[in-house]
Amino acid sequence: MRVDDILAYNERFTQQTHLSSIGHAPRRNLAVVTCMDCRLVQMFEQALGLERGDVLELRTAGATISEPERPGAASDLIRSLAGGIYLLGVREVVVVGHTQCGLAHANPAALVAAMQALGVDPQQLIEQQKLVDIQGLVRWLGAFNDVHVNVREVVNVIRNSPYLPKLPVHGLVIDINTGKLEVVERAA
Ligand SMILES: [Zn+2]
Repeated sequence: MRVDDILAYNERFTQQTHLSSIGHAPRRNLAVVTCMDCRLVQMFEQALGLERGDVLELRTAGATISEPERPGAASDLIRSLAGGIYLLGVREVVVVGHTQCGLAHANPAALVAAMQALGVDPQQLIEQQKLVDIQGLVRWLGAFNDVHVNVREVVNVIRNSPYLPKLPVHGLVIDINTGKLEVVERAA
């Protein structure tokens, strides 16, 4: 199992490394929302100049809130931001989508095939969860066509959430190959 490699590495890490003890409130009073993409691991923090203790990092597939979760802000991302803001002093939010995102242009046929291959019946799921059709399944997953549009939409959902106070929410897109940031939406 892959987890054994992690555990073996961790054994050495904890013997060789002494972490300084720091508080759980982010030093920069900032929450950063981004994608789960494996190419962002390490590169993301380096490109943004983020150190341990600086910010809250929230990751969701596609840095998005899927369509069914937007009404009523019934999203785990909104819940996490609320915790960050009310309990940990976050006062600014940055949403960072990225180029070549796996959730952009997700192929419904490939999704269905992958589910079936792993023993999940898409049709049964669609009926159980009242998703109507394959497109409903794709919407549940949060797939989108345009990363810039998605970032703007997520920024607006956060800005308009009744659970959250008015604070600056910005939208950026990071180039997955170069790490270069592009401003899509900037709060006043
Ligand atoms: Zn992505």
